[in-house]
Amino acid sequence: MATNSLINFDSLSPKFRDLYAKAKDFVENDCLPAEAIFEAQMGQGENRWKVIPPVLEELKVKARSLGLWNLFLGTSYKEGAGLTNVEYGLIAELTGRSIKLAPEAMNCSAPDTGNMEVFAKYGTEAQKERWLKPLLDGKIRSAFAMTEPAVASSDATNIELNIRREGGQYVLNGKKWWISGAGDPRCAVYLVMGKSDPSNENKHRQQSLVIVPSDTPGITVVRPMMVMGYDDAPEGHCEIIFKDVRVPVENIVLGEGRGFEVIQGRLGPGRIHHCMRTVGIAERALELMLARVTDPSRRTFGKNLAQHGTIVQDIARSRIEIDRARFLVLNAAQKIDKGDAKSALKEISMAKVDVPNMALQVIDRAIQAHGAGGLSQDFPLARLYAGVRTLRFADGPDEVHLAQLGRNELRRAEEIRARLNQIKDKSDALKAKL
Ligand SMILES: Cc1cc2nc3c(=O)[nH]c(=O)nc-3n(C[C@H](O)[C@H](O)[C@H](O)COP(=O)(O)OP(=O)(O)OC[C@H]3O[C@@H](n4cnc5c(N)ncnc54)[C@H](O)[C@@H]3O)c2cc1C
Repeated sequence: MATNSLINFDSLSPKFRDLYAKAKDFVENDCLPAEAIFEAQMGQGENRWKVIPPVLEELKVKARSLGLWNLFLGTSYKEGAGLTNVEYGLIAELTGRSIKLAPEAMNCSAPDTGNMEVFAKYGTEAQKERWLKPLLDGKIRSAFAMTEPAVASSDATNIELNIRREGGQYVLNGKKWWISGAGDPRCAVYLVMGKSDPSNENKHRQQSLVIVPSDTPGITVVRPMMVMGYDDAPEGHCEIIFKDVRVPVENIVLGEGRGFEVIQGRLGPGRIHHCMRTVGIAERALELMLARVTDPSRRTFGKNLAQHGTIVQDIARSRIEIDRARFLVLNAAQKIDKGDAKSALKEISMAKVDVPNMALQVIDRAIQAHGAGGLSQDFPLARLYAGVRTLRFADGPDEVHLAQLGRNELRRAEEIRARLNQIKDKSDALKAKL
C-alpha cells in the first residue's frame, strides 16, 4: 500500500489499514481537487473572516461518514480512535498533502487537536461536557493563547498576562498575538495562559491556564497577523487584548499554578503530528517539482529541465532528505508508543528540528525548478513555504531543541573520555612491550 520501508504495514492493525486506505483516497480525490473551490468560495474583504467556504463543511460530512474523524486522540484517551502514534502519524502525513483542507475536514487540525488533548487529559467532567464534546463533534473551534508581543515567548516563564482572583472569578488583563484560529467565526473558546502568582519563587508555578469563552466582555480581537503576506483567513493568527475579562474560577485547568504542567503535557505527540503533516507537504512539493521538470513544454538550452544534472541531483537530495526526516518522526512516534512523550523527548526534538528545515529545503528546490511561477498564486509552493517557515520557532525554536539535544549528548562526554583514556593506556602498555 505504501512505499514506507521503516513500517511494515501488514503488521499494523486491520482498522488502521482500512482508515489509511480511505484517508489516502479522500485526500487525493476529495481534498486536493477541492482546494481551488475553497479559494473561490472564500469571502472578499471583511467577509474573509465571516464566510466559511461551504466545500469545507461538505468535506467534513464525507470524512465523518468514512470514519475519518478525530483520529488524532491516541490509545490513552477513552474519546480516542484507538490508533497508535505511528499509525496516526502515517495518516497525518497524508493529510499534510492537502494541509489547508484535509486536517480540518477530518477534525484533526491545530490548534483544536492540542486543545482537545488538554480538555481530554486535564479537564473536569463539566469542562469536557461544555467544550470537549462540541470540539470533538466539529461544531466549534478553539484557540490557544500564550504568545505575547511584549516578551520573548519561546520562554514561557516570561508570559505576563495577569490573572487575578476576585471572589469567585478570575480577572484577566493583558495582550496576546499570533493566536491561531481566533479570527474564525466558529472559534468559541480560548485557552489562555497567564500569571496568577507572579511572585512565586518557583518560576514554573507562577502560571495558570484559564478557559475563556470567546464572547466574554473585555476581549478585543485587534487584527490578524500576516505570515509573509498571507493572512490564513478564515482562521488567522490574531492579536487580542484582554481587558478586565472575567470568568468563573471553575474555568481553571488542572488548578492554579499548574499552567506550565499543562502546556508541557500538550506538546508531546502534537509536535509529531505537525512533523508528519510537514513530511506530507514536502512530498507534495517534490511531486509538483517532478511534474514541472518533466513537462515537455519547459525546455532550456536544448534540453528538457529534467535532463539538467543539477535538477536530477536536487530531486535525489529531496528524496533522501524526506525519507530521512520521516524515519526520524516515526522513530519518535514509536518511542512515544512504547513509553510516553517524556521518554521520547530526545527523538521528538530531533524530528522537530529536522523536519521543517528539510521541508523548507525541498519546497525551495521545487520553487526554483518552477521559476517565477513557483513564487506565484498559480502554485501552492510559496504559501507552503511561508507556512512551514513558522515551524522553525512555533512549538519551540530550533535553537532551544538543539541546545537540549547538544546538552544531552554532552552528558556522555565524561564516560567517553574515561573510555578513550583506558584505550590509550592499554595501547601505551602494548607499545611499551614492543
Ligand atoms: C503562524 C503562527 C502561528 C502561531 N500560533 C500561535 C498560537 O496559536 N498560540 C500562541 O500562543 N502562539 C502562536 N504562535 C507564536 C509562536 O509560538 C511564537 O512565535 C514562538 O513561541 C516564539 O516566540 P516569540 O515569537 O516571542 O520569539 P522569541 O521568544 O522572541 O524568540 C526569538 C528567537 O530567539 C531565538 N531563541 C530563543 N530562545 C533561544 C535559546 N535558548 N537559544 C538560542 N536562541 C534562542 C530563536 O531563534 C527564536 O526564534 C504562532 C506563530 C506563528 C508564526
